[in-house]
Amino acid sequence: MPTPRIDINLSKIVHNAKGLSSLFRSKGIDIIAVTKGVCADPHIANILVKSGIKILADSRISNIRKMRLAGVKATFLLIRTPMISQTESVVLDTDMSLNSELSVIKKLSEFAILHSKIHKIIVMVELGDLREGILPSQLENTIEKILSLRGVELTGIGTNLACFSGVKPTAEKMDILSAIANSIEKKFNIKLSIISGGNSANYNWFNTTKDIGRINNLRLGESIFLGYEPLTGRPIPKLYQDAFMLTAEVIELKNKSSVPDGEIGLDAFGNKPKFKDQGMIRRAILAIGVQDVMVAGLTPKLDIEILGAGGDHIIINAKKAELNVGDEVSFTLKYGALVTAMNSSYIFKNIKTPISARDYCAVLEEKDRLHKKKAAMMTIKDDLSPLMSLQDSDFNLIFEKSIQKNYRYLVRKEIYEKIGRISKLLDNQGKKLIIRSVWRSFEHQQKLWVQKASFMKKKHPKKTTEEINELVSRFIAPKKQSTHSTGGAVDALIYDLRKKCVLDFGTNDGLKIDLNEKCYPKHPGISEEARKNRKLLMKLFENEDFVCDHKEYWHFDYGNIGWAVEKNKKYAHYGIIEESYVQSTVLQYPDKTPFYL
Ligand SMILES: *Cc1c(COP(=O)(O)O)cnc(C)c1O
Repeated sequence: MPTPRIDINLSKIVHNAKGLSSLFRSKGIDIIAVTKGVCADPHIANILVKSGIKILADSRISNIRKMRLAGVKATFLLIRTPMISQTESVVLDTDMSLNSELSVIKKLSEFAILHSKIHKIIVMVELGDLREGILPSQLENTIEKILSLRGVELTGIGTNLACFSGVKPTAEKMDILSAIANSIEKKFNIKLSIISGGNSANYNWFNTTKDIGRINNLRLGESIFLGYEPLTGRPIPKLYQDAFMLTAEVIELKNKSSVPDGEIGLDAFGNKPKFKDQGMIRRAILAIGVQDVMVAGLTPKLDIEILGAGGDHIIINAKKAELNVGDEVSFTLKYGALVTAMNSSYIFKNIKTPISARDYCAVLEEKDRLHKKKAAMMTIKDDLSPLMSLQDSDFNLIFEKSIQKNYRYLVRKEIYEKIGRISKLLDNQGKKLIIRSVWRSFEHQQKLWVQKASFMKKKHPKKTTEEINELVSRFIAPKKQSTHSTGGAVDALIYDLRKKCVLDFGTNDGLKIDLNEKCYPKHPGISEEARKNRKLLMKLFENEDFVCDHKEYWHFDYGNIGWAVEKNKKYAHYGIIEESYVQSTVLQYPDKTPFYL
């Protein structure tokens, strides 16, 4: 994937948009989504509309035109007071606009009449932030004149606080706007349908006010995209702060001094730089700079420190982070960084589209079919490494009871060691690894097959044997095709010692797993909790060079043909181990009682 890039997670944006919509809707406030922070990217605009938002707003006509041309179906609001030179285009390309100058509204009226259109107007009121808005004392006078114009329709009033002077949209400010709405309606005997109280900065007012008064609309950008409340910079509960992530590449990594050597003049931007003496440090240079993004708005995911930036470079103190030249470093973004990064033609926009459950399953099943074909052709050069019983180890493990009598939980030596390291990592988190099944003989595999087939037969009495076999084979391999016969496959789950239960993986009730499509590891239909727990399990094994099965989140392969195909290896180094071989080689019985669940 190219760098620098910005990863855009559409599902997280949808989550935030829906969360905020339903929150504000609970007291009768509709939200308009403001797209200027993401350069009106049509993919993002479309998913905002899909999330139920009816009106999209932008400060620039070119952005609104872009969304229109891309076929985005919404009502479009221009939120920056129109330039008088653009009024014809405002009438042609937008449905409504925020306004604060009568001369501009008169021009809008003229062009609306010319093009036989009705352009909707929301009049902005100045309530102290000193950006756009008509002073309350002059409002009635202006509105009287607007009402006499043809081609324009007074749809509502609004205000914008916080952005320029940081003035808080308090209950007092909102009450003033409500009172103004009431008095205008009364004086002119009209109904204002939109009373737009502000932007993302209205979040705290909304949460604390007992009475929202006449406010029935807010225009939100930052809080939808970044999940922050802008006045305090605090995350909004239950929203994502990482729907956008910026990633750049390390191009130099060296131990150098933390202070420069030589006489200090002005830097590339005419500032006199200051340095903190931290002795020798690991300095990394990233291939991204202020020409691409507002660096002050970046927060690194790793424990590293941004020391400064030039046009094309960000210099970081890598501290203890394990970095190499060529590695990627990721950041979350504040609003200023988001706006600039989205605007930079040097930054690749990587849009992660949500995939439907049906498409996901179809893609995965196709992948799995191909995988099986490749696995059948894979060469095996067995390294003849021995099997060892996990029950003989002193790792902190829980064993799931097996249908096979005297089951010994055997794995290859290398896997034995990997499981040891994984179990240690879990010890530190108050969790334990559950070993469900590892090496299986043909007889054992056959037992599983027969058991599942008879269960399915009972569940679907009308199905033919062939249909039952087809169903069973989706999750249980025929006896000679299971990678479990190599000693290189591990079925595992995780037990939470604090909550005293098996973690929720989305299709399990404790150890009982319901075999269905939701067992596919990244199925989009599972809960956030299950997704998190699967990620934890998969990461533990993947960091030990295992691969997760395509269809079973609990099954991991290493060294065998399944692994070799996924990892593009020339050959697998674990082949099938048969029962007779095991009997002659395996080790004594355990001298302690293993812990079963
Ligand atoms: C930018 C803007 C908004 C959106 O502000 P956020 O802080 O991103 O929610 C709303 N109204 C107007 C007039 C704006 O210019």
